[in-house]
This record gives sequence, C-alpha cells and structure tokens, in this order.
Amino acid sequence: MNNTFVKYKDLLTIKDYNKETDKEEFVLIPLEDELVFGRYQKSRNMLEYGQQIAIRKTVYNMLIEVAKKLKLSYPNYKLIVAFGYRDMKKQKKFFNEILEKVKDKFDDEMEMLEYIHEKIAVPEVSGHTTGGAVDVAIYDSQENKMLDYGTDILDYNTNKCYYISDEITETERENRELLRNIMVNEGFAPYDGEWWHFSYGDKEWAFYYHKKEALYNQVDAERVFNKVSDKKF
Ligand SMILES: [Zn+2]
Repeated sequence: MNNTFVKYKDLLTIKDYNKETDKEEFVLIPLEDELVFGRYQKSRNMLEYGQQIAIRKTVYNMLIEVAKKLKLSYPNYKLIVAFGYRDMKKQKKFFNEILEKVKDKFDDEMEMLEYIHEKIAVPEVSGHTTGGAVDVAIYDSQENKMLDYGTDILDYNTNKCYYISDEITETERENRELLRNIMVNEGFAPYDGEWWHFSYGDKEWAFYYHKKEALYNQVDAERVFNKVSDKKF
C-alpha cells in the first residue's frame, strides 16, 4: 500500500459549495470532557479570542459519536482535538511565509503551488479555514497521554507523519488504523500526508467522496465569532 496525496489541482475540481449548509454555526470544543476535548498543541494556531478550538457543529456531533463508539470497546479512550478552525488571515500568512522562501526556485506557478500545498494548503482550498477539518488523536485517560502513533500530533518534521510509514512499529501502525477506521466509518475523509488530519464538508472531503460540491466554504474569524453558539470565552 502507498500513500495517496490529494493535490491542489484535485481540489480545484470542486468548484462550488452548498450555500445552505455553509450557514451552519460553529461551536467551541470543551477543554475537559468525558468524550471529546480540545487542546491546542501549537500556540501559533490559537485564535485571538481564547484557548478553545472552534469547529462546525455537525463536525463536533460526529466526533462525539466517534468517541461514544470508541468508549464501548475501550472505556479509557477519549478523543483529543489538537486543532480545528483556522483564521483565513493566518492561513494566508503561513502560506505567504513559504511562498517568499521558494518563489525564486520555480518557473512554473502550478508546480510551485503544488509544492507549497504539500506543506500548507493553498488558502482558497484549505480545510481548516472552513471549520470542517480537525486534527485528532485517541487519548488514554488512564495513562493520561495520547496513544503511540510514531510521531507527536502535528509533527511534520519527518515523513513519519505520513499515514503509511516503514519506520513505525506494529503497535503504532495499529493505533493509526484504529483512529482512521472509526473516523472514516463516521463519514470523515482521511488525509495520507498526516495521520491525525480528517475532514468533513470541505473540498478534500468532497474530492474523497466524489461529491460535486463542498458543504462548507472558507470563513473569516469575525463570522465564526458571530456564529459560535456558546460564547464562554
Ligand atoms: Zn490538519
């Protein structure tokens, strides 16, 4: 088996999004919970207004279903969400940082965009800016740590973050597989470039499930703030 990377050009084939489903509100993931809890792993990912991670309400409900099913077989396991919604301004900033470094190395613009997209999504097609993408892991509440996956969550420093890797142990592989199976069974799309990344309703999800359009479009932080139903900042 090989990893399959969704390319920028693949996502360009999803040209539209559903205007009705895109109206859906955002919720904040609780910091402590028996099923699903949110904890930023990188401070630069944090939103200006708080410690809590925002995601679309349907995505949150799906994560709760995943965690409930997980608990039936593994009573100590919960889901930890390390990242969800990202402000479009930050997506553009991170994208431009890489663009500045590499732009002189490429003659072909598409080739350059594909190269950057592997590291950070081109803003116009990015998943985290829709509130539909999440970075998750299974957390063992008895051991007080995440299961072993061979790398830390959000560690892109080596190719060991690819879902399929020759450099991980059998247990680490099984843990990745457990996470992926329960997420995909609930309707999330996986991403082979990062074992922890899953999405629902964004362009990557639409491409993976052969849908004509996405359910969610990119959203500005101001609109997310207005849409959050539980304003306990
Ligand atoms: Zn991600």
